[in-house]
Amino acid sequence: MIFRPEQLKIKDQRMKPFIDPEEIWGYLNNSPATKAQVREIIAKSLDKNRLTLAETAILINATDPELIEEIKQGARRLKEKVYGQRIVLFAPLYIGNLCTNNCAYCGFKASNQKVKRVTLNREELIQQVTALEDVGQKRLILVFGEHPKYDASFIAESVRTVYGVKSGPGEIRRVNINAAPMDIDGFRTIKDAKIGTYQIFQETYHPETYSKVHMGGRKQDYDWRLTALDRAQEAGIDDVGIGALFGLYDWRFEVMALVRHTNHFEAVYHVGPHTISFPRIQYASELNIDKGHLVTDEEFTRLVAILRLAVPYTGLILTARESAAIRDEIMQFGVSQIDGGTNIEMGGYAKKGKHEDQDIDFEQFQINDNRSLNEIINELIDQKYIPSFCTACYRLGRTGEHFMEFSVPGFIKRFCQPNALLTMAEYLEDYAPAETRQKGYLLLQEKLDEIEDEVFKTKLIAKINQVKEGHRDLYF
Ligand code: SAM
Ligand code: SF4
Repeated sequence: MIFRPEQLKIKDQRMKPFIDPEEIWGYLNNSPATKAQVREIIAKSLDKNRLTLAETAILINATDPELIEEIKQGARRLKEKVYGQRIVLFAPLYIGNLCTNNCAYCGFKASNQKVKRVTLNREELIQQVTALEDVGQKRLILVFGEHPKYDASFIAESVRTVYGVKSGPGEIRRVNINAAPMDIDGFRTIKDAKIGTYQIFQETYHPETYSKVHMGGRKQDYDWRLTALDRAQEAGIDDVGIGALFGLYDWRFEVMALVRHTNHFEAVYHVGPHTISFPRIQYASELNIDKGHLVTDEEFTRLVAILRLAVPYTGLILTARESAAIRDEIMQFGVSQIDGGTNIEMGGYAKKGKHEDQDIDFEQFQINDNRSLNEIINELIDQKYIPSFCTACYRLGRTGEHFMEFSVPGFIKRFCQPNALLTMAEYLEDYAPAETRQKGYLLLQEKLDEIEDEVFKTKLIAKINQVKEGHRDLYF
């Protein structure tokens, strides 16, 4: 693969191609998994060490049910050790579904005549954000098709509008973006609007498959997309999310490529991606893909556990594409963020009533978890997870935060867990029905009782009391 310097415009050493399919298949085909090796690798990861590509390949090649179970349990222990019981919540908000690309898997593809094309105007955007704030959302990801209308200035303006909406005690404190690749100036423009994470998925890292499923438009250019996050870095956006759309090509290859992409970031920018996403293909209007690589639930669970072990300090995102049952099952193996109360129908959040009957002609694909935000929070609390809306690190300029959580001793205890509890208390005060409020405070008390440092505990209780008195947005 050749990177064209005019696309990248960054220093020579960074132009080396970092995805080499032969290298990846070389590892996969030459790394048999023995029991002893698999156990050694899990132990290395539990010691909070990043895994190499060779080690990741060995975990992927472990097919003995006993070893698969050990990998899953290793991932579960690592998650508890590194992240504690927090789950960060967010919601996706589709701004516009105009698109000039023809991605075989996507309902918004240009050739799809059935889909109704909508771009939210300022008023409509404000209505959507108001509806999201009114149920307690604090973190959004704005999603855009790829279209000249959605240039960097348009995206930056949307971000500013979202930050400006205040409904009652509600506000959006972190706006992430999922949008088409830009040039470096474009990335500077959206950085100035104070975006949180810039997220983009390579979809498939396998070049031939990539060409097959991207049948038109700018997205046909594999390298332009693969190097997008390098240009983002160059523009000063150091908080980025990567991902692959599982079901296009062999899942084992995509997992290796995600780890390789992470290695590239660590080698060049000294901080890995903030998050990894692993959407599985869902039904969409005019879906047109070869079904040979669809990923089973069992493979999906394995791949999440392997990713957790391979990149212990990178956030893992599991979305409402998956059913509630699968999300509940897989969360334990290392997921750190989920969306809640998701509605991907264009303009859908401001509509009254429950989002159960999806109109696929208004949506990119079908989602399978239609629970409201409060239903999800209820269930998280029942399972002793702390629902978190924390945005402290981003607000204090502590980016590369997952690295910090992972590497700074006590960081989670001192910052993440207390901040999660503070944002949960805000939610309980402002948005929760009585039943959720009651059990939420019981969980909060349990977590307070676990804190051994009395001085710190007193400080946290004081802040929680401030929240109860009406102060908002408190964090450590
Ligand atoms: N237009 C932007 C782009 O292509 O980067 C935004 C992408 S889209 C709104 C977000 C992600 O949804 C895509 O990158 C793709 O991975 C995923 N996606 C597309 N079609 C899907 C489908 N049928 N099922 C599940 N995920 C899908
Ligand atoms: Fe357009 Fe993105 Fe859908 Fe491709 S995945 S058709 S680029 S909205």
